[in-house]
Amino acid sequence: MAEWETLSGMISRGLSLNNLLVMKFGGTSMGSADRMRVAANIVSEQQRKRPVVVVVSAMSKVTDLLLETLRHAEVGDRTAIDANMLTLLDRHLSAAGELLAGAARPLRDSAVEAVHSLISEFHRIANGILMLGERPPRSVDEAIAIGERLSAVLLAHYLESTGVPSQAVNGSEVIITDAVFGNASPQMDLTRRRAQEYLLALAEAQTVPVVTGFNGATVDGRPTTLGRGGSDFSASILAAALDAEELWIWTDVDGIMTADPRLVSDVAVLDEVTYAEAAELAYNGAKILHPRTLAPLVEKRIPVWSKNSFAPHKPGTKIVSHFDEPKGARAVTSMSNVALISMEPTNAVLSTRLMARALDALALANVEILVLTSSSYRQSFCFLIRKHDVTPALEALESNLSIELAHGYLKPIEVDENVGLLAVVGEGMRGTPGLAGRVFTAISRENINIIAIAQGSSELTIGIVVRLDSLERAVRAVHEECQLGKISSVAQAN
Ligand code: ASP
Ligand code: MG
Repeated sequence: MAEWETLSGMISRGLSLNNLLVMKFGGTSMGSADRMRVAANIVSEQQRKRPVVVVVSAMSKVTDLLLETLRHAEVGDRTAIDANMLTLLDRHLSAAGELLAGAARPLRDSAVEAVHSLISEFHRIANGILMLGERPPRSVDEAIAIGERLSAVLLAHYLESTGVPSQAVNGSEVIITDAVFGNASPQMDLTRRRAQEYLLALAEAQTVPVVTGFNGATVDGRPTTLGRGGSDFSASILAAALDAEELWIWTDVDGIMTADPRLVSDVAVLDEVTYAEAAELAYNGAKILHPRTLAPLVEKRIPVWSKNSFAPHKPGTKIVSHFDEPKGARAVTSMSNVALISMEPTNAVLSTRLMARALDALALANVEILVLTSSSYRQSFCFLIRKHDVTPALEALESNLSIELAHGYLKPIEVDENVGLLAVVGEGMRGTPGLAGRVFTAISRENINIIAIAQGSSELTIGIVVRLDSLERAVRAVHEECQLGKISSVAQAN
C-alpha cells in the first residue's frame, strides 16, 4: 500500500518511467498458440531488462470473421452466424488449451471462462443486430473489439503461466477518442492521464499490461475503434501517452522494404527510414504500418522499430525523426484499388470555383484524395481516390454540382477504374535534381503511358498514375532505375 501511494503520487506529479518499451504484436504474430508462445518469449526477455507494455491485435483473420458475422446478422442469416460462432470458439479454445496445457487448473479455468464470456458478449451484440436488421456503427465497434480482447486474455494468461505477472487490459479503459465510430481519433490529454494512471502503475509493479489494440472509448464510455489495422496506431498512442523510450512493432516481415517483394525480386530491407518516409509509404499503399501510426510519436521523437517475429534476431527497420545525409529515392510502392475521376467544364467563365466546390463536397463526404492534378487553362482537373469511395464521391459531386451538370456547364463526370498509383518516396529526393526525369524516362522506356503525375509539396514523394495492367512493370522499372535494391542493408534481406 505504501508503495502504491508513492507511485500514485509520482504519477499525479506527471512523472513517468524513463525506459519503458511498448511492443505491439500483429495478427500473424498472435495467430496461433505457437506464435503466442514466441510473442511471450520476446516479452519476457525484454521484461527482464526494462518495463514493458504490450499491445496486441486479434488473432489473424478474426476481425474479418467478426465483421462477416455482423453482416450475416443484419440480413438475418442465423445458420451462418452459428457456423462463425463455432469457428471463433474453436480457434480460441484450442489456442487456450494448447497454451495452458501445463498450467495450474485455476489459470486454465479462468482463461476458458474469459473466452466463453467474451464470445457470449459478441453473440449478444450479433443477436441485437439480427433483431434490429441493421448494424449501428457503435455496436459494430463494441463487437469487433472483442477479437483483441480475446487475444489479450490468452497472451496475458500464458505469460502468467510462465511466471511473468501480466494483466489483460481493454483499450477502452485507456484510450479516449472522439465519437467517429469505425475511425476514431485519440484525445491525447485525456488518454495520457488515463494511460498513465492505469498502465504505469502496472508496469511499475512489474506486471506486464497486455492492452487490446484497435479500440478505445469516448469520454462518456461509448466504445470506438481506430480503423482497420488500427492496433499499430493504438501502440503509438500509448507510447506517446506514456513517454516510452521505444516502440517495437512485431510483424511477419523483416522490416520496411524498398518495394513489395511479391512484385520485385531484388528488394532490400531498409535499415532506417524517417517518420515522414514511413508515413508516405503507408499512405501510398505499403502495408507496413497503419498510416496514422507515426503522428503521435513525431513530437517526442520516440523511435519505432519494425521487426519480424518470425526472425526476431534480425534488426528490422528503425524509424527515426531525421538522417544527416538523406540518400535519393528510398522505396517504391503501389496501389491498385483506386479510381481516377475527371471533371471538365464546357465553359471556363461560367464554372468559377468548380474545383474548390468539388473538393469541399468530397471533404464533407469523407473521401480522401490521393493525387490531384489540374489544368488552369482549361479549368479541368482530375483526382485519384480509393475504389470504395467512388459511390460516395459521385453522390457528393453530383448533388453539389447538380445545376452545372444539368445545364451542361460541366461535362458528365468521368470515372476510370482501370488505373493504379505508383509512389516513389525518399527524403533525399528533395536535393536530387533530375531524379523525377529519370523516373519518368524509366517508365516510358517500358512503353507505359503516364496518365497523371503529382509531386507532394514536401517533395518527398512523386505519385504517378498509370494503366492498371502496367502498374507492376512500372514498379519494377523504377526500382531498377533508382537501384533501390542495391542499398547498403541488402544483406539484411536474406
Ligand atoms: N484486428 C484489427 C484489424 O484487423 C486491428 C489490427 O489488427 O491492427 O483491422
Ligand atoms: Mg496490421
